[in-house]
Amino acid sequence: MKTFVFKVGTSTLIHPSGRVNLRRMEQLCKVLSDLANEGHRVVLVTSGAIGVGVGKLRLSGRPDDTPGKQAAATVGQSELMFLYDKFFSQFGHIVGQLLITKEDVQDETRRKNLTGAFDKLFHYGAIPIVNENDAVAVDEIVYGDNDSLSAVVAALIHADTLFILTETGGLYDANPQLEPSAKLISVVPRVTDTIRAYASGSISTVGTGGMSTKVQAADFAARAGIDTYVFCGRRPDDIYRILSGESIGTHFLAEKE
Ligand code: GLU
Repeated sequence: MKTFVFKVGTSTLIHPSGRVNLRRMEQLCKVLSDLANEGHRVVLVTSGAIGVGVGKLRLSGRPDDTPGKQAAATVGQSELMFLYDKFFSQFGHIVGQLLITKEDVQDETRRKNLTGAFDKLFHYGAIPIVNENDAVAVDEIVYGDNDSLSAVVAALIHADTLFILTETGGLYDANPQLEPSAKLISVVPRVTDTIRAYASGSISTVGTGGMSTKVQAADFAARAGIDTYVFCGRRPDDIYRILSGESIGTHFLAEKE
């Protein structure tokens, strides 16, 4: 039995129209339910609260102001959980929602409470679904991106593996959309300055969008002894292929003690 943390981003969960990609969400819930059926502990770190809220409230775009983002997040988070609850129930699983702020992890007592909640959910056989508590997390205390949050959660619960589902197929040595010769980096034994530069785009033309925080998260996880896979979230079934040892996306190796 292993403990797996999966992180899924807004652009994987919603269509360009701003409405939820139901098929994608259902596929993901099915694979995760199946892994839970195999006996693994499964945690899902999900983004999309603000994005789904914007779509549901029919706003013209993502709000710039904090109250606007908070309000959109409260609406979107409810919708997300409604859908996760529905899809996971369809596959015979119960979910529990954990909305986390940085203080919940940094403060020792709160951290203990948080790990207690995870442990109990696992004990009950439920699937914890995590997001940042966007309704109350203000700028100074915010993780801001769920890539970091997913690595923090993975370390907190001593996960074996972190899976980051993204829109690109992994880490490339250049932007694959601009440079057809860009090569996928299959294995990263250690996050070096070169790897960081690939992610931020300072080597070659430009890097892939949002890859920096993923590399940072993978580095954090590696230091906590956790392997990370960054791969294309459009094909949730690839999780099976990765677990059976196929080389898909980018594998960041855990640091050995
Ligand atoms: N917590 C944010 C949300 O649910 C997403 C943060 C991120 O995109 O990484 O909208």
